[in-house]
Amino acid sequence: MNRILVIAEHDQGKLKLASLSAAGFAQKVCAASGGSFDFLLLGSGVSAAAEGLRKSGAAAVLVADTPALAQPLADRYAKVIADTAKARGASLVVAAVSTFSKDILPRASALLDAGMLSDVIDVRPADGELTFRRVMFAGNVIATVQLDGAVKCLTVRSAAFAAPAATDTLSPVEAVAVDAASLSQFTKFISRETKASGRPDATEARIIVSGGRALKTSEDFERLVGGLADVLGAAVGSSRALVDSGITPNSLQIGQTGKVVAPDLYFALGISGAIQHMAGMKDTKVIVAINKDAEAPIFEIADYGLVADVYEAVPELMQKLKK
Ligand SMILES: Cc1cc2nc3c(=O)[nH]c(=O)nc-3n(C[C@H](O)[C@H](O)[C@H](O)COP(=O)(O)OP(=O)(O)OC[C@H]3O[C@@H](n4cnc5c(N)ncnc54)[C@H](O)[C@@H]3O)c2cc1C
Repeated sequence: MNRILVIAEHDQGKLKLASLSAAGFAQKVCAASGGSFDFLLLGSGVSAAAEGLRKSGAAAVLVADTPALAQPLADRYAKVIADTAKARGASLVVAAVSTFSKDILPRASALLDAGMLSDVIDVRPADGELTFRRVMFAGNVIATVQLDGAVKCLTVRSAAFAAPAATDTLSPVEAVAVDAASLSQFTKFISRETKASGRPDATEARIIVSGGRALKTSEDFERLVGGLADVLGAAVGSSRALVDSGITPNSLQIGQTGKVVAPDLYFALGISGAIQHMAGMKDTKVIVAINKDAEAPIFEIADYGLVADVYEAVPELMQKLKK
């Protein structure tokens, strides 16, 4: 019987919707081979985020709410996750793929002496065993894997699992007692630097407008990529070429070493379509590419392609969309 602990993620108390797709994974496992799942939410002052988890069919929403967890310091969070997994007898500990889960879950798996899989895109329960499919080598290989051991830790791609349908009944909220003195003091929170853009986060947006090396300056990027994104109510993204040249911040990078996204609509403006970039966006439903090179590889996966100069085509497109 599966006992699954789903780690919920939030940003300063605002729930990350990707957490619900991790619950979708848990629900799929339980539907096929029995069991139940709990959410675990960690932080300080997170009662509103906890409310957002109560309609997903979890047996319980466990909340570790204490000032000692106000910032997501990985060694502290990993300890509370491991302790809670042991206390609940969890056989699976799951979180949606993100920088948060990449930082925290491997540490929790080490504390639990559990196997760890990242980037899971499918699960097939059969004969009491779970067989997982996971993406490797920038999406070029899909491995079929089983993990040994009584406890398994996984990160799952949010695009691969739909959030559970909202239930009529609310899951009970249970407080998790945390002994702050038992938490690691090796790392200390110093500060958090964020730039509020007012635009949606690429991992949660339905539409993303991304720019590549064709954009020569930060001002051009903001005017063309940011401008088109604002007309469409979209998030912005960037290729690594622009991040490396300092034109865009690292937080915008889409790809193998950036964010992995699967929106409904993705605009690739002046992006060649290197495999490392495509690894982060090729599961998009509809891809639109604008590139002045008709031979650019991005056209091989684009649903709509326009061979044009982005400096001419994008202002024209914005003008038409505004009308
Ligand atoms: C280990 C590793 C990890 C990596 N991870 C990532 C990653 O996560 N994300 C990522 O993006 N890359 C990643 N890369 C880099 C990747 O290999 C490419 O170098 C990068 O994606 C190229 O970015 P680009 O398409 O913007 O630039 P380019 O490949 O230089 O392409 C620019 C494109 O713009 C077109 N163009 C130029 N001017 C115009 C214009 N005026 N109008 C229209 N089109 C124009 C050109 O025809 C060209 O196709 C990684 C590389 C390595 C080795």
